[in-house]
Amino acid sequence: MADKSFNAFEMARAQFDKIADMIGLDAGTRALLRSPLREYHFLVPVRMDDGSVQVFQGFRCQHNDARGPSKGGIRFHPQETIDTVRALSMWMTWKCAVADIPLGGGKGGVICDPHNLSAREQEAICRGWIRQLARDVGPVTDVPAPDVMTNPQHMLWMLDEFETIHGGHYPGLITGKPVGMGGSLGRTQATGYGVVYTLREALKDLNIRPQDTTASVQGFGNVSQYAIELYHQLGGKTILVSSWDQEEQKSFSFRKMSGVDLGELRGIADRFGGIDKAKAKALGYEVLDGEAWIEQDVDILLPCALENQITGETAKKISGKVKIIAEGANGPTTPEADALLKERGIFVIPDFLANAGGVTCSYFEQVQSNMNYFWEMDEVLGKLDVKMTAAYIAVSEVARKQKLYMRDAAYVVAINRVAQACRDRGWV
Ligand code: GLU
Repeated sequence: MADKSFNAFEMARAQFDKIADMIGLDAGTRALLRSPLREYHFLVPVRMDDGSVQVFQGFRCQHNDARGPSKGGIRFHPQETIDTVRALSMWMTWKCAVADIPLGGGKGGVICDPHNLSAREQEAICRGWIRQLARDVGPVTDVPAPDVMTNPQHMLWMLDEFETIHGGHYPGLITGKPVGMGGSLGRTQATGYGVVYTLREALKDLNIRPQDTTASVQGFGNVSQYAIELYHQLGGKTILVSSWDQEEQKSFSFRKMSGVDLGELRGIADRFGGIDKAKAKALGYEVLDGEAWIEQDVDILLPCALENQITGETAKKISGKVKIIAEGANGPTTPEADALLKERGIFVIPDFLANAGGVTCSYFEQVQSNMNYFWEMDEVLGKLDVKMTAAYIAVSEVARKQKLYMRDAAYVVAINRVAQACRDRGWV
């Protein structure tokens, strides 16, 4: 994201245009789906702890709601841009469609760095964000959720502000709430576990046993940690994890050839997943450059950080041993890199399929909130596995039958479903 020349929205559109051409999508539908239906830009003034006022820029994009209310997270990030939010909202539309859940696509953001904000200041940003959008989001219109650097506490502050404004209880406003306050068991695990449900299916397709594989993982946030947890339960071994170092403003990789210990790394990481270098060294980890994650001799790469990581340049460094890339992050791979990966026959489980577990569990959270009856963990994870496996199979069948690259197959499935909903409603 530090790369100023990279524009996620241009990338999302390029991916869309390619498939729109391939499936012969009509001009009207294409014009409708190339841009968000609605977007909101606003300011959030906050009284800081030192008494000064700081004004934060906030966004919300509702890309499409033909299949159901817009759905998608809110990111807190210092480099957030409107074009990134537009792209992410578009990817949410495809994600909900490919997971076959009755929701559309949305995304929000605030330009801020929670590393440098007290809990009170973060609360003020959350409440201010909702105050600006209180009439434009809601349980039947647009349902936010956590994303990069936002968490269940942020969601609860937002819900509380919304309920104060509207004078009632509306747990369906937002998902990713704390368990016991309208949240679903399994929501924290869902995105990372979902990545591994699809990875497990891909390994079956390729006739590889998980216990014979090794992985290198970019990022150590929520998605990464739970992907590693389930991957290890299947018998896999992670040899490297990279993480962002707030002090040095760059990332580092932590390698242990005998396999990283997840509990140990969690014990020396901050709440954003930043791993302490000195403590890691003391525990026998090699500390390498942040980019080292991509050049390891492993079977599986799990990019679980941000967009624009596997590029035309970095993709050249991928080892000949790599067989699968499962994208936990949104938009980690650029179209130039896709061309290279396709040529090399690397099996890619594209982002909006691989990481659809989070929003699928958000959908379960809404269902449970509406029923006011909450399921046990096993039930949530069982249903999540069923949905993710079905989504994977639907895409891999199209890929096999039409001889398509997996990302293209996922786009074909998703765009067809959304376009059909727009036609059925008489929009196009
Ligand atoms: N932010 C997550 C994503 O990118 C989850 C969205 C949601 O639960 O609505 O898929």
